[in-house]
Amino acid sequence: MKKYFNKEMCASCKGACCKEMGCVYLPSDFECLEFEYLKNLLNQGKISISGQPFNGFCSDDWSYLLYLRARNVSSPIVDLFSKGGPCINLTEIGCSIADINKRPALGLTVEPCKVGGPCHQHYTNDFSWLEYNDVLKQLSEYYSNKSFLEVLVTQAKDMNLRIIEKLKNKEELFNFEKFYYKWYREIMLGKPYYEIEEIKYLLNP
Ligand code: SF4
Ligand code: SF4
Repeated sequence: MKKYFNKEMCASCKGACCKEMGCVYLPSDFECLEFEYLKNLLNQGKISISGQPFNGFCSDDWSYLLYLRARNVSSPIVDLFSKGGPCINLTEIGCSIADINKRPALGLTVEPCKVGGPCHQHYTNDFSWLEYNDVLKQLSEYYSNKSFLEVLVTQAKDMNLRIIEKLKNKEELFNFEKFYYKWYREIMLGKPYYEIEEIKYLLNP
């Protein structure tokens, strides 16, 4: 996967995209993806368990793909419907992860091309996290002390209230909030939820 980087442009921008949301890792960013190893990493405070909802078999159901992202300031370890950034690694002089090869892989698929953004996203769908969904789910349950579905729905409700508050205050929504808001409607319409194990062959045939 080609990596994009423009230190000067991102420095003058002061990280507009990093203020919106911490970027997403790929499994290949980690030397180990076992429970204890990831737990130690998560305990260091710089990474969250996150992900995104999507349709499964058809538009009348839904599931959720888990992955790891750079943690957002004041966000919890399990951050399934994130309130967004700034990313915890963002400093006045840019990303504190000095070695770009250690930055989240999907952040490096963004080609800096416009100060203030939006910049060009070269990412194409990558479902390599599917293989590690189980361990991320176990970690979500370990940290939240709730079933995965329970924490997912609770956080979706919290997200919905946050967005309604922003709308009431006439604050502009980020794109990810518009995406979540649309999903909340679908989830609460009572569409059936599928465990990702039941449908992952559809994503990764
Ligand atoms: S919005 Fe673009 S220019 Fe600004 S920090 Fe992000 S990639 Fe760099
Ligand atoms: S990890 Fe670095 S590049 Fe990615 S969002 Fe955070 S500050 Fe920006």
